[in-house]
Amino acid sequence: METAVIGFPRIGTLRELKFASEKYFRKEITPEELLQTAKILRKTHWDTQKSAGIDYISCNDFSYYDMMLDTAVLFSIIPKRYKALGLSELDTYFAMARGYQGASGDVKALAMKKWFNTNYHYIVPEVEDDTCIRLSGNKLWEEYVEAKSLGIETKPVVIGAYTLLKLCRYTGENCCADYIDPVISAYGDLLKKCQEYKIPWIQFDEPALVQDMDREDMALFHKIYDALLACASNSRILLQTYFGDIRDIYTDVIQMPFAGIGLDLIEGKETYHLIEKYGFPRDTMLFAGLVNGKNIWKNHYDKTLRVLEALREKGIQTVLSTSCSLLHVPYTLKHERALSSEYLSYFSFAQEKLTELGELKDLAECEAYHLEAAYQNNQQLFAKKRDCEKKEVKQRLSLVTADDYVRLPSRIQRQERQKKVLMLPELPTTTIGSFPQTKDVKANRSAYRQRKISEKEYVAFNREKIAQCVAWQEEIGLDVLVHGEYERNDMVEYFGESLGGFLFTEKAWVQSYGTRCVKPPVIWGDIYREKPITVEWSVYAQSLTKKWMKGMLTGPVTIFNWSFPREDISIKESILQIALAIRDEVLDLEKNGIQIIQIDEAALREKLPLRKSDWQKEYLDFVIPAFRLTHSGVKPETQIHTHMCYSEFTDIISAIDDMDADVITFEASRSDLQILDCLREHDFETEVGAGVYDIHAPRVPSVEEIVAALRVMLSKIDQEKLWVNPDCGLKTRAMPETEESLKNLVAAAKQIRNELRE
Ligand code: GLN
Ligand code: ZN
Repeated sequence: METAVIGFPRIGTLRELKFASEKYFRKEITPEELLQTAKILRKTHWDTQKSAGIDYISCNDFSYYDMMLDTAVLFSIIPKRYKALGLSELDTYFAMARGYQGASGDVKALAMKKWFNTNYHYIVPEVEDDTCIRLSGNKLWEEYVEAKSLGIETKPVVIGAYTLLKLCRYTGENCCADYIDPVISAYGDLLKKCQEYKIPWIQFDEPALVQDMDREDMALFHKIYDALLACASNSRILLQTYFGDIRDIYTDVIQMPFAGIGLDLIEGKETYHLIEKYGFPRDTMLFAGLVNGKNIWKNHYDKTLRVLEALREKGIQTVLSTSCSLLHVPYTLKHERALSSEYLSYFSFAQEKLTELGELKDLAECEAYHLEAAYQNNQQLFAKKRDCEKKEVKQRLSLVTADDYVRLPSRIQRQERQKKVLMLPELPTTTIGSFPQTKDVKANRSAYRQRKISEKEYVAFNREKIAQCVAWQEEIGLDVLVHGEYERNDMVEYFGESLGGFLFTEKAWVQSYGTRCVKPPVIWGDIYREKPITVEWSVYAQSLTKKWMKGMLTGPVTIFNWSFPREDISIKESILQIALAIRDEVLDLEKNGIQIIQIDEAALREKLPLRKSDWQKEYLDFVIPAFRLTHSGVKPETQIHTHMCYSEFTDIISAIDDMDADVITFEASRSDLQILDCLREHDFETEVGAGVYDIHAPRVPSVEEIVAALRVMLSKIDQEKLWVNPDCGLKTRAMPETEESLKNLVAAAKQIRNELRE
């Protein structure tokens, strides 16, 4: 049996590519130096895979920014505004990725979107009416030759034509259908060129096949691949899918002459069933995705070997592969010094997964694998009782009743009550929570972490910051104040560190977009709250002002979605455990006099299943109640807010209303405001703060601009329901622009209030 890897992390074990790229952006190194760093990284990554004995190693899985953007460039899908800058190829590429402001012009970056159900973001290619799609790039072949000259035969990987056509934005009159023929011919040219280079295998990544497909989609798929398979001749095409199963198109796919088909047996719930029911062609190779590319737990060898055995019994030629690209897991365990070897023995990052592939391959080829050490060690690990259970948590959860998910009285009654008690002006002004994390704030935290200052000094500094922040908010006249979140860096890290059951890594970075990486905590065991987390900060902040101080928490779904989950209990159980911990915090805040509490759910949409038919049963049916569980115990006059960092929830709008928050804030300034029409159509009950300006750029919005935005909003949202706020937290901004922007925001709200009174 052979082994394959769909794709390997490219940022480097210690984020070398990130640091080199950022130096290049700051003009501290030359393009050649950046290219050189990249070359060394590619060599390291290929060598690592080669020495682990991987048979099918990818090339062109490297990227300076994003593989979708690479594919756009490969096919000359470059909007005119970027070409017009007249920059070098590399800088045009980065201008599309990050925007450009300088001597050659001023353009924004292309849009970015979440890559299926991951926290990776891809660049959305833009196709203009006069875009001429054709093969033009060379990167794929350069990388192939580069690997070959190092003695490594690779399979180039490219995003497939179907997924590309599905994910592009068509900015003019034309639509997807108008580009099918040019796209097919461009991919045809790609295949021809691969044949000229005598490349034996080429991998087309088609994750879009795991989403719901209608007739038109299926016809599109056929049109593309019937044509491409006809001209493949000597290059063998691997149709690679991941993040789910391909139930809609499976029976078609297995009748087409692909040399290889890659299927996900981890996230693809139906994959095995499909193979059993419809069979698999004898002369096609199955790239069986059995080593999880998304999570960090060790593979359970016994389970995997059973599947491999079953596939062999069916006479299927199997290549053992990863379930998706290893891009979504950290690089290596080697740099983790703080976690005990007991903990580490359960984990497997990208490099360790290579070892797993190798061991599994050896075991699969061995008659009596039960006797092998690798198998036995793995069995022992899984037989051992992991120290992760907490009886009290399980018991408490078992006592939760249906009533605990319901807040009483009804929202309409609460809203009336809150108006009386809170006595806020019309169109109340507020912010989302964080204030700029200025250098001094970061320095204070890092000094504390490195034990250079005492806890007392750390707290004293933050209290001083809070006092300044509160005084300033009062001075400019905001209505509902915040304490500024100076004690937090990343919100999930902050809550994870304060809750029992989480583990933290030191260097386990995963690329989120471009040069940005995140370090998700690991949910190791049952989650519980040891003691109040935010109460002291909030109570202190409230003591400084007669205005309302908003308590600030992160919700259970977001904490879960931004962590590596357990595999031994259900998502539902984990999320409910976190919900109970947050519930305790909510009740403690209330008990201590905090009457407005915001529970952020920035990542609620992230793990919404890729198939619509799974949305309710496999997600919304428990995540929405979990949110309700966090706040159902508060008094009617306590006002619950939530916040989301996007506005694409028209398709789940009823679920959002069902969270039963009193107020929701979200991003509207960058979106098309379609969401606002949708609110009225659905009799959306929750009060709404549709962010009036974009905090993602330093630009200061004028009073007139905000007034205009508010007028539009008032035409779509009842005036008693409208809040005025920026579209997200201010932590990434600097102080001067924040002050100006918020002053303008308050002035705009006042102006509108006056107009309404007239
Ligand atoms: N309260 C958080 C903040 O203001 C919310 C951040 C977020 O939604 N990503 O920073
Ligand atoms: Zn946000």
